[in-house]
Amino acid sequence: MHSSLDWIYTVDIDAGTLTISSMSEWRGLLAPSPSLPLDLAEIYETYSIDGWTVRKPRYMFGEDIRESNEAQAKQFETFEMDLGIPSPMNELQGRFFTDLVFVWRFWIDDPSTWRVLCAAFLRLAAWDFEVSFDSRCSEVELPIDATSIPLWSYPDTDIYWFHGYLVVLQENLQSDAMINKAISKAKSYIGTLDTRPRHGKTRLICISLRQVVFVELSQEAALASKSLVLLSSSSATQCSPGFRALARVLTSNCWKPHAYREKWPVNMPPEIIEMIFSKMEPGDAVAFSQAFSVAEQCYYASEFQFKNIDVQSFESSIPCCGKRTRLETHGICCSECYSWQHLECLGLENDSSSSKGRYVCLDCQEREMVLDPGGINRFSCRKVREGCQVRANGLLKSLQLRLSKPAHLRPELRSYARLDSVAPSLIDYTILFNHAFSGLAYGLEPLEDTSC
Ligand SMILES: [Zn+2]
Ligand SMILES: [Zn+2]
Repeated sequence: MHSSLDWIYTVDIDAGTLTISSMSEWRGLLAPSPSLPLDLAEIYETYSIDGWTVRKPRYMFGEDIRESNEAQAKQFETFEMDLGIPSPMNELQGRFFTDLVFVWRFWIDDPSTWRVLCAAFLRLAAWDFEVSFDSRCSEVELPIDATSIPLWSYPDTDIYWFHGYLVVLQENLQSDAMINKAISKAKSYIGTLDTRPRHGKTRLICISLRQVVFVELSQEAALASKSLVLLSSSSATQCSPGFRALARVLTSNCWKPHAYREKWPVNMPPEIIEMIFSKMEPGDAVAFSQAFSVAEQCYYASEFQFKNIDVQSFESSIPCCGKRTRLETHGICCSECYSWQHLECLGLENDSSSSKGRYVCLDCQEREMVLDPGGINRFSCRKVREGCQVRANGLLKSLQLRLSKPAHLRPELRSYARLDSVAPSLIDYTILFNHAFSGLAYGLEPLEDTSC
């Protein structure tokens, strides 16, 4: 039984201690690795059993978080981000994010997998993946369970470049001191480079398991956004503010690094660029979009790779009514969760003051977003995963996450049902990161058209 358990919590009431150990192999046998007992009195709520109480966990980044959390003057100014209206692409990204968190939920409590998951979040946010439509779709390894291993490649360092941004991985970004630390890590990294960005400004995406912070770094000063929640216990059912911001930063012009790429001497009409894209392999298209800004704009203007799909419902990005006419201007973005809502739906239409000031939606006034160990599974495993309404080749369909192989490839179904009475659950699309299965597979299911 222990082989499938990651952590063992031993409570010794007589001694008043808690010991957290992981299973490790010793002379061919699995045994709990030795670790320091913690004082039970110190642990008063489940979410404090992470980071600082586990003093030297084997997989963590090896820094003592408690020590660096000491009060420290912050070395940056803060700025508010204006993310604008979410696009249909952002809606799909939000769905893919919650689905990815759901399928890999068993991995999130294990800090050793943070780098690989982080690479996946960044790729989804940048629409940097390949969609496979072919017959190989049914050969994917489903279902994803506690024994599955993510196989996509990822940078094995704490600092790397991604789509023109410098990504800084750090175990915690909750306090100013931790943001300071991420900034100084980035500074010393940039200092070692021969070629600095010509304009002298670098845009950083600092990521931890729980938060994301956006930082603009120049010679003189550092500007940082507030720390946004990237993963919480509800992230498998509701897109997090951190991911919403990440997706919009990477797919729109709201916070692009200043002209870091080539400009083409010829004026290329968008139609020609679209034609070039349509002839390309998906992986090449991402690279091409990164080569120059006109191509990038063209790439992010459509849900490229899902060419025949037109998103119809926006429950994730526009939660008020889930509708988008593509002409809206009268809306407001919650400054906590970055969901976008119509002023009409909120009954604020004539209230011009609220549209300029800071707005916090009702949901955010009520909830607190925390990530408990095992919380994602407890929160989401019994909920039905709703599909996304799309129009595919003119027909209204539901884009549905697939958690297992299609029915005809599951002989076990024969033992308890007639196969023709089981939904076929075919897989139409799989999402790949560098040719490796991301865990996300989707099928289109018919929906009744009620629009006409
Ligand atoms: Zn609305
Ligand atoms: Zn909100």
